[in-house]
Formats: sequence, structure tokens, C-alpha cells
Amino acid sequence: MAMLNVEDLRVYYSTPLGHVKAVDGVSFEVREGEVFGIAGESGCGKSTLVHSLILRKPPMVHMGGRALFKGRDLMTMDVRESRKIRYTELSIIPQYAMNALNPTKKIKDIVWDLAREHGRTDREEVEKLLRERLEMVKLSPKVAEMYPVELSGGMRQRATMVVSTLLNPDLLIADEVTSALDVTTQRVVIELLHYFMEEGIVKSIIFVTHDLALLDKIADRIMVMYAGKVVEIGPTEEVINEPSHPYTQLLLNSLPRMGVQYKKQKLKGIPGYPISLLNPPKGCRFYTRCPYALDKCPHVEPGLAKVSEEHYAACHLLGGED
Ligand code: SF4
Ligand code: MG
Repeated sequence: MAMLNVEDLRVYYSTPLGHVKAVDGVSFEVREGEVFGIAGESGCGKSTLVHSLILRKPPMVHMGGRALFKGRDLMTMDVRESRKIRYTELSIIPQYAMNALNPTKKIKDIVWDLAREHGRTDREEVEKLLRERLEMVKLSPKVAEMYPVELSGGMRQRATMVVSTLLNPDLLIADEVTSALDVTTQRVVIELLHYFMEEGIVKSIIFVTHDLALLDKIADRIMVMYAGKVVEIGPTEEVINEPSHPYTQLLLNSLPRMGVQYKKQKLKGIPGYPISLLNPPKGCRFYTRCPYALDKCPHVEPGLAKVSEEHYAACHLLGGED
């Protein structure tokens, strides 16, 4: 069953030069019980996409399409309603989680403010829950009495995860939560997210990252974005082992392979730069960097073509609809 159904969503930034088409006709669903990975280089629209689900404020503008979350359209929901579902139904661990906690308050006060705003009245009970959750993520219950600045980076990351999930949101969005962390802390964060799912604290996760190798470890399905568009979507195993879009293939080729000495590997970066989203070309947005571009690629936009039952990619080489 789909928990989130995004249909032809367009979210732009309004600038003096025109609209930056950051999310331009994106469709996907997130099912109950799955970790849905969103990958792509920085600037591909993945952060804009997930942040638009939570809060849109200028210069971000919703230009079209829907995002049905448990049947309600997040794009037209009023502010009061979105505040109400925040943390209890839909929650986000922000990209800069390290700085996400109010530095002037103790962790237990941050949590109490949040719980009270969502109708909780029993402070004892909330603090008990906080201590339990801190223990779950292997933090001392004493952390409740501390200020965010008293915590190390890794501890603060875990405390932020506790705060974001305290009220058992159905859908948790994790935006580049591991990119500032060392490999060991990354692993801890991934384990914690799995644990939150197993314990039924969250039902589904959207995990956003530029690191496809990381999605291999956590995601059930992956959506790859390029220049505001979905270029490939499918089960993790298929997307990683049999990538169908030239961009996904290049992205995977640019990853250091496990077990091979880093220096010995020739990492093939992807040549060229992403196109400007102020005036994107009519056709395939990847054609300026694509080694296989056909004559029609700059002019005709490729539609998503079926690769297998659940696997789609938008490339003319796959012979999909134009
Ligand atoms: Fe390359 Fe053309 Fe496919 Fe785009 S549609 S990825 S330019 S071959
Ligand atoms: Mg980002």
C-alpha cells in the first residue's frame, strides 16, 4: 500500500532571472514498510523535493502536481494541519542535523516543547519515553539533562534522531544525514534507522543521499534524479546491479569499489556539468554529458520506459515512449 503518492510534482524557485525548475514533473510512491532511497548529485532536486513535502516558503513555489500522504495532499494542506501532522505522522531529520537542535535548551526541554505542541500533557511520561529512546540509541539517559553543545557530533546526531522520531511518525525523511559523518558513525545511523523500522517506531523511510553505495545497504527501492527529473526507479538490487540509465551507470562507475585499494582505482568522474535549471533543454537533460546521445536526445524528452516489472528508466536507448 502506498503511504505517499507523488504525482507529476513541480516545485520551482522563483528568482529575478526566472524560475529554477528544481523538481520538474516527478512521480513516485513510497510504500508502507519500505525504505525508499533518492539519489543524485547535489543540485539534482532531491533535497528540494523532500523539503517541499514538509514546508514550502518563498522562493520555493509549488507549480503543479500532488503529493498525497495517506490520502491528503501535502501541497494544499493548510499550515495548521501540516503542523499537526509534523512529528506525529511525517517527520524529517534535516541535512544539517548537527545544528538542528535549539542550542539554548536542554534536550528534555526541546522534547517537552515538541510533545506539548502535539497535545501531550504528562511531562513525566514524555521524559520517561525520552529516556527509553535515548537508551535505545545507546545514549545515556543523562543526555536528557544536557545542552546540544555538550554532545559530540555523533551523539548530537543520535539525539536529533530521537527527537525527530519521538512521536512515532509514519514516514521519516532522512536528508543526507550521513554525509558529514565518518564511516563508523554512518553505520550506526543506518543501523538505527533499521531498528526504528523493526520496532515499529516509523513505518516507512525516505533516505536521501548522493551516495548510491549507501543506498545499497539500506534502501528497498531507489529513485535516481538528474536535473529535476527522475531518470531511473526500481528495486535496489536491479538499479545497482543492472543500471539502465547512462547517468546511473556513470554514477555507479564513479564510486570507489569495496575492497580495492582506493589509489589503485581509476575513478571515472562524470564529465561535464549539469545543465542550468533556469532554461533546461526540451529533450533529455543529460544529453550534454551523455556518451551515447542520439540525434533526437536534445530535442525529444524521453519518457520512463519499462525495464522490468518494477524497474523504469527514462532514456531513448530503451525505446520508451517519446
Ligand atoms: Fe543519453 Fe539520450 Fe538516453 Fe538522454 S535519452 S541518457 S542523452 S541516450
Ligand atoms: Mg541537499
